[in-house]
Amino acid sequence: MAETLAEAVSRRRTFAIIAHPDAGKTTLTEKLLLFGGAIQLAGEVKAKKDRIQTRSDWMKIERERGISVVTSVMTFEYEGNVFNILDTPGHEDFADDTYRTLTAVDAAVMVIDAAKGIEPRTLKLFEVCRMRDIPIITFVNKMDRESRDIFEILDEVEEKLALDTAPITWPVGRSKSFCGSYNLVDNTFRGSDKQVEALAVNSPKNVAENLPENERQTFIEELELAQEACRPFDKQAFLEGHMTPVFFGSALRNFGVRDLINALGDFAPPPRDQVADIRKVHAAEDKMTAFVFKIQANMDPNHRDRIAFARICSGKLERGMKARLARTGKLMGLTAPQFFFASQRQLADTAFAGDVVGIPNHGTLRIGDTLTEGEALVFQGVPNFSPEILRRVRLEDAMKAKKLKEALQQMAEEGVVQLFSPEDGSPAIVGVVGALQLDVLKERLSGEYTLPVSFEMSRFSVCRWISADNAADLDKFMTARRGDICRDLDGDPVFMAQDAFSLRYEAERYPAIKMVAIKEYH
Ligand code: GDP
Repeated sequence: MAETLAEAVSRRRTFAIIAHPDAGKTTLTEKLLLFGGAIQLAGEVKAKKDRIQTRSDWMKIERERGISVVTSVMTFEYEGNVFNILDTPGHEDFADDTYRTLTAVDAAVMVIDAAKGIEPRTLKLFEVCRMRDIPIITFVNKMDRESRDIFEILDEVEEKLALDTAPITWPVGRSKSFCGSYNLVDNTFRGSDKQVEALAVNSPKNVAENLPENERQTFIEELELAQEACRPFDKQAFLEGHMTPVFFGSALRNFGVRDLINALGDFAPPPRDQVADIRKVHAAEDKMTAFVFKIQANMDPNHRDRIAFARICSGKLERGMKARLARTGKLMGLTAPQFFFASQRQLADTAFAGDVVGIPNHGTLRIGDTLTEGEALVFQGVPNFSPEILRRVRLEDAMKAKKLKEALQQMAEEGVVQLFSPEDGSPAIVGVVGALQLDVLKERLSGEYTLPVSFEMSRFSVCRWISADNAADLDKFMTARRGDICRDLDGDPVFMAQDAFSLRYEAERYPAIKMVAIKEYH
């Protein structure tokens, strides 16, 4: 019998891996994909990245600085579930991209380096997940190396993240003697990930046999303490974002990854309800709805296309269907939606709520766009952050001003930079959250548009989106401060200020004007 929509949806697990750079996100991703048979050999994720990098100019930046600036999705199946991993850039200069990607997941895996504990970037990403109550599974990686005391790591998670911990497994041995995980819930032992079924354990003593003699007693005592002192796993608390199940392993040496993937299947939620302006949308509703959280150009220079990554929120997307784009009210044909695997992409004939598809387009779709089968609803929550750096773009060849305008418009639509057009007609201002984004802009303008540019300071350093309950108040403010008002890509008004002080001053002088640092796409 054909699978029902509800069944198909309930098999989806869409998640991101959050980690401080170097904790092992890439290695873990590779191992997860390996389980799904999505790649033949671990190493392919990186190898693929390298191949793309050598072909694409702007990614030179990434190669030179050894950072990942590409967000993408990877899909694989394992034991009946369909997993969509949304990759996020590790570098904080691309934080806005990461935050938007996190709006498209239902769960997250937090990777912690066992020697380091909670690092700054982990904390920051965790906070973003918490804002949306995204359930988090913790993977303590690099157990094959010197690690910190396990109780200390658990305490740190509880204290720094205000998150209850429930270790599901406990590491057997440390660094060189690390040899697997003991499951505290069902009292089984799994040596390496190669072992499909974990072995039932008669007593912790059997497991201790795997360890050097001088470590056995310590292990048995520690395990007793863990069983007594640690909280039992409470699935409801996990789903509400208050508790995290904890697993221990070594992605590099193939330990604990199978435990983790089983947990994703068993604990992580199927596609969640999504909030739209007029109502909540349930994943198993018949009609297809989706929103765009990411635009990527030049994913494959052979294609020279622009891919909009859309998270399907409800129903079923079928290739060839027509969808209504909320921003314009126009219909667009979804003729070539794509799935992404580690080393290839494939046309998606059908995709279900929870899945992420790439939609090739030539600028029709923007970040934050909603697609439906006709209903006029708009998903909320994809954030746009007010830039930390504002610059004017200086062209070396003034004859190319028109071309630059078009190029900047395109870069802004892709979310590479934000573009602000002053009301007084002076040249546009670009804004970014991190300085590396300016480097990407410069590389791409020169590489793709043959427009060598440099950046000049602008007299502004901060900006805020402005609105007022009463249109007359907004008009008055905008007329009074005309020289400091810009429009963003959507035509929404933005107030530019010289510094934080003058921003505060104006906010006090015009209390009717709302000034916000984060705009949700609409
Ligand atoms: P990312 O920056 O979080 O993507 O981290 P990577 O996956 O690139 O890993 C960073 C470094 O740690 C690499 O040299 C990996 O080989 C190494 N690594 C990752 N996982 C483990 C592990 O479980 N044990 C050990 N010893 N090294 C690991």
